[in-house]
Amino acid sequence: MKLESMTLTNFRNYHQLSLSFSSSVNVFLGENAQGKTNLLEAIYVLAMAKSHRTVHDKELIKWDSDYGKIEGRLIKRNRSIPLELIISKKGKKAKLNHLEQSKLSHYVGMCNVVIFAPEDLNLVKGSPGLRRRFIDMEIGQIKPIYIHELSQYQKILQQRNALLKDLSTKRSSMTAMLDILTEQLIELAAQITIRRFQFIESLRGWAKKIHASISRGMEDLDMAYISSTPNVLENMELSKLKEEFVKGFQTVREREIQRGMTLIGPHRDDLQFEINHRDVQTYGSQGQQRTTALSLKLAEIELINQEIGEYPLLLLDDVLSELDDYRQTHLLETFKQKVQTFVTTTNVDGLDADVINRATSFIVRDGE
Ligand code: ATP
Ligand code: MG
Repeated sequence: MKLESMTLTNFRNYHQLSLSFSSSVNVFLGENAQGKTNLLEAIYVLAMAKSHRTVHDKELIKWDSDYGKIEGRLIKRNRSIPLELIISKKGKKAKLNHLEQSKLSHYVGMCNVVIFAPEDLNLVKGSPGLRRRFIDMEIGQIKPIYIHELSQYQKILQQRNALLKDLSTKRSSMTAMLDILTEQLIELAAQITIRRFQFIESLRGWAKKIHASISRGMEDLDMAYISSTPNVLENMELSKLKEEFVKGFQTVREREIQRGMTLIGPHRDDLQFEINHRDVQTYGSQGQQRTTALSLKLAEIELINQEIGEYPLLLLDDVLSELDDYRQTHLLETFKQKVQTFVTTTNVDGLDADVINRATSFIVRDGE
């Protein structure tokens, strides 16, 4: 798929801007704080209906404006699809083919993106929350229903945590209510866990292959999804998973009431990486951790193509200069022909000359 054009109205530091893109490489070039990342973010938000760097949508609206708007024209399976996202202080409205979608989950998934930003270099070493967010964003693109399941899970989790807190401080004695919420939480937890196991299993194969190639065959990357619930394992059927969750919640019940919070479930799970059978979080060098993050992102591109039948857009925010020449060339080679790419940089010197020659460049200066 390719993004043919994009128009911004009151988005971040852009008052009004229309751009037409190249179907191969687009470079946003400019000094710091001019609006390069804002452009990548706009493409990301147009695709995902949320930002990759903030959960507060109102930050996306230009200061002193009431609303912000992103419009785009996507070419997918030889069809031209208009996309539109309006962000106001009241909420978001998404339109596909000029028709407003009643649910954002009907909108997300039409345009697929993979973003590689400086913060992704922390994916391996950073907090488990970053890794869960990565998993959630990616599954959501491939299976939009997952977004709905996840938000239901969060809702029940919040209610359950509030109740546990009240139980812990003896403000409530509604243990029957706790049983009901636990049952509801388990239904969703099992479904989410199965989807995550399946996603990681598919991603794992691609990441292994790509990592081997980036490291010139020196490194064997492996990864696993680690459930916080005892005995919840890969390849379990849904009914079996639910049984294990029921047992798990029975075991932690007293501790949850004491602590006033939900102690097991997908919101506590994590990913683990190994290179040549050694834990990357513990033993990996900085370069290995970066390469692992890069392999994951490249794997995602292949996985989306496998599932959707088209390559996603690739957004690279300032990361090329973080990689050594070999890794940079590998990254550029991979997407050269097939993947429409958007790169930000403050300096073209660090970029592959061949790519720059064929790229369409945009000079970004103070929101113009
Ligand atoms: P760098 O090279 O440092 O990463 P950049 O070109 O990527 O810079 P951006 O992150 O795109 O810079 O941000 C550019 C500017 O946008 C910043 O100066 C910031 O103050 C401004 N900005 C951010 N949000 C808004 C907003 N809601 N309204 C107006 N301006 C904003
Ligand atoms: Mg930036």
